[in-house]
Amino acid sequence: GLSPPGVAETDAELDPEVLDLLGGVPIATTADVEVPERLIDQVIGQERARDVVTKAASQRRHVMMIGSPGTGKSMLSKAMTELLPKESLQDVLVYHNPEDGNQPKVRTVPMGKGKQIIEAHKEEARKAGQFRNLIMWGLIAVVLMYSLLIAGEFLLGILAAGIVFLLFRYGSRRGSAAIPNLIVTTDDDATAPFIDATGAHAGALLGDVRHDPYQSGGLETPSHDRVEPGAIHKANKGVLFIDEINTLDIRSQQHLLTAMQEREFSITGQSERSSGAMVKTEPVPTDFVLVAAGNLDAMSHMHPALRSRIKGYGYEVYMDDTIEDSAEMRQKYVRFVAQEVAKDGRLPPFTNDAVAEVILEARRRAGRKGHLTLEFRNLGGLVRVAGDMARGEDSPVTTREHVLDAKRRARSIEQQIADEYIERRKDYNISMTEGSVVGRVNGLAVMGEDSGIVLPVMAEVTPSQGPGSVIATGKLQEIAQEAVQNVSAIIKKLSGTGLNGKDVHIQFVQAGQGGVDGDSASVTIATAVISALEDLGVDQSTAMTGSLSVRGDVLPVGGITHKIEAAAKAGMKTVIIPAANLQDVMIEDEYKELVDIVPVTHISEVLKHSLEGSPDMDSLASRVAEFTDTVLDGVGRG
Ligand code: ADP
Repeated sequence: GLSPPGVAETDAELDPEVLDLLGGVPIATTADVEVPERLIDQVIGQERARDVVTKAASQRRHVMMIGSPGTGKSMLSKAMTELLPKESLQDVLVYHNPEDGNQPKVRTVPMGKGKQIIEAHKEEARKAGQFRNLIMWGLIAVVLMYSLLIAGEFLLGILAAGIVFLLFRYGSRRGSAAIPNLIVTTDDDATAPFIDATGAHAGALLGDVRHDPYQSGGLETPSHDRVEPGAIHKANKGVLFIDEINTLDIRSQQHLLTAMQEREFSITGQSERSSGAMVKTEPVPTDFVLVAAGNLDAMSHMHPALRSRIKGYGYEVYMDDTIEDSAEMRQKYVRFVAQEVAKDGRLPPFTNDAVAEVILEARRRAGRKGHLTLEFRNLGGLVRVAGDMARGEDSPVTTREHVLDAKRRARSIEQQIADEYIERRKDYNISMTEGSVVGRVNGLAVMGEDSGIVLPVMAEVTPSQGPGSVIATGKLQEIAQEAVQNVSAIIKKLSGTGLNGKDVHIQFVQAGQGGVDGDSASVTIATAVISALEDLGVDQSTAMTGSLSVRGDVLPVGGITHKIEAAAKAGMKTVIIPAANLQDVMIEDEYKELVDIVPVTHISEVLKHSLEGSPDMDSLASRVAEFTDTVLDGVGRG
């Protein structure tokens, strides 16, 4: 097993199992691991996407990234900005247009110049203001003096002074129209901008002109001052990232396309009835690189013109979900934990065995033999929860115990539902875990992506009025039919007559929650039917999963680890699985003692392990084994 928690070991005493998980490079904690400076160097896996991003950056091409959430689409897009030249960055200023206040002028200046210009204008305005104030107070003094001392009209004097004051205030408001509005600016040290416009509404994406409640009377804010840039303007010379691109409304997609083609886009008020809608600026530069992201579904719901624009002038790349597990790759996963700790800034460093546990989890979550998951956002979540727990305890390091605790806590919604479901079924005693019952088999299914449930199947065989059929409820009909078809050849040999003239009723007990996944129930169904047909009891402490060929071979299925864990939780003693799935089994230690895992390659072995121990059963199993080897060749293909 892994070493006890809380100890940051030295190289010499590192557990070989931990060392192997770390990819053979010993560390005490993640504090020993160097984190690369550039984001692009922090990206793990996604070789193709990394190449594309590098190329697209140097050629300033658009990119479409398709793939699962949390695999690095946004990270790679951000990394792209580090590769774009920053000399070309621009500031954008909007000026009052004295000829037409509703058509503000736009000026583009080199990066950093914008602020200087604003400063200069402000300084000028301040000086002009001072001068104006001097004049104003002078005038007021003269008016007051004249009316008090010479004309003797006190009230009239105050009134006149007030009018002078207001006139000057009004004038200074007008004067502020001279100060331009700096709508796009970048800090001096900055790389090219990265703007995430995921889920942005039209105004946030395309720019907007604020509504002015005082539309006249000299109190209004000059229109150029109400102009607000959109993401397309802020991303000028940088990267505009839009995830879930298909959720962007069609009109916005059209405008986005225009901005890409023209490389400039005027800002106008987006809400039609506000005073802002009358205002339209001169074109504002929108020379960005678009990274559009989404899942496969996103492509079909995208504006076709936008899609073909990217296709024609850029790259499309598919993100990987998993990557081959190797020592070299695992070293990168060690670095991943270090990266996440560094990024968060507050998490205690992870001990070597804590890191090993995270890597083990990456293996488990891959759900594929010899692979590691690339869904790093979730894995990063695990790292943060574990680190937060360590921090909460004032522990100087994050230990393996913390990671295990975090895993328990960070259960997905599906897992939580499955747990609840199991609990409820225990209450109602729906899943049987002992004794033997004819025609009833505990199958296993996957719920959501990462949780299993025990799903009992019941079969009954009755004489039919007609030629005989397979009867199951709802959408399970197809699955049941296919499974029965697959075993019908075997059954035919077995019983001589086969299923002709018989109805086979199949019921999935409590399948209401969904979760019957394709043909992974076919071994279960076949066993239930054979049990019913031969009137032999099925051991209820046994659960099973597997797909079936017409020759009776048991073929591998998905979600094997979750299924076994579900069986263990439900109180099963034995789990029959396809032998080809044995390498995919990564159940946690706590379940290992609870269940025996029986790998099988043929339906005859399934029957041997699940049907009630009796001479009948033995003969049945061996008969099945025998004739599937020899006779079935012809039958199966027929
Ligand atoms: P996506 O945009 O594909 O949904 P993100 O790029 O936002 O995913 O990933 C979320 C976080 O997960 C990143 O900030 C980073 O910490 C981590 N991450 C994702 N993919 C990778 C990767 N390929 N290599 C290293 N870390 C990654």
